[in-house]
Amino acid sequence: MKDRPIYSSIFTEVRYTESMHFQPTEEQNLILSSVKDFCRTHIAPLSKSYDSSGEFPWPQLRNLAQMGLLGATVPEEWGGAGLDSVTYALCLEEIAKADASVAVIVSVQNGLPEQMILQHGTSEQKEKYLKPLARGEKIGAFCLTEAGAGSDPSSLAMRATKDGTDWLLEGQKVWITSGGQADLYLTMARTGGAGARGVSCFVVEKGTPGLSFGKPEEKMGLHAAHTTTVQFDRVRVPDTARV
Ligand SMILES: Cc1cc2nc3c(=O)[nH]c(=O)nc-3n(C[C@H](O)[C@H](O)[C@H](O)COP(=O)(O)OP(=O)(O)OC[C@H]3O[C@@H](n4cnc5c(N)ncnc54)[C@H](O)[C@@H]3O)c2cc1C
Repeated sequence: MKDRPIYSSIFTEVRYTESMHFQPTEEQNLILSSVKDFCRTHIAPLSKSYDSSGEFPWPQLRNLAQMGLLGATVPEEWGGAGLDSVTYALCLEEIAKADASVAVIVSVQNGLPEQMILQHGTSEQKEKYLKPLARGEKIGAFCLTEAGAGSDPSSLAMRATKDGTDWLLEGQKVWITSGGQADLYLTMARTGGAGARGVSCFVVEKGTPGLSFGKPEEKMGLHAAHTTTVQFDRVRVPDTARV
């Protein structure tokens, strides 16, 4: 038993060691095997053409939504599949093996906008934003990075100022995955003083006046996972959009 490989993929090999006793459960293995088959049949065959054309992989995302993988760890009551983190990570590896661009989009959707609303949103925000994201009816983006705030995001400069009961957002974000394609933009902006505590998060819906997008960056790979600038020119959102 000792030091026997129990699961392996390109990136991971989980082994028994004296200090670690991990084995996928029967249920995890079952889910993994269906995700593996699904990715082999529905995701991998499209990978090359989407990477060549740089087209956003909508069909692949719609397919994965039907498998519940656009809301993998979101509880079922909010439209998700309610998977544990290990099962989700193993599924994500399978998606990445089939198409790395699709995996980037799926990992952002699951890890950032959904978790932000799940952990910090009101019930109304969960109903309005989290459910459609978790069901894969909407795609989410997470707008944190700025030209002058990458590794240290708490130094971000984008501001949100109160205007009556609304907020006005002004600034630019860079390197935003699914920029221009996503329906909802979870956007970090400064509402208070310096540092992380002066930052608030707002949900901005695509189509809101003043919201615009740059062209997808010409990256060395991951061409179907669009990465763009997102521009906010006096974008008005109600206070109910503050997470
Ligand atoms: C494909 C792609 C998708 C992305 N998607 C998103 C997204 O959806 N949303 C989003 O908000 N952002 C996104 N990003 C941005 C990403 O989060 C940032 O690129 C990252 O935070 C690093 O910031 P930076 O590029 O400004 O690098 P910098 O912060 O300028 O860092 C450059 C280098 O300097 C090093 N460095 C920085 N500070 C220090 C220090 N104090 N001491 C020692 N070394 C240091 C870093 O480790 C790094 O090697 C994406 C980026 C890419 C490439």
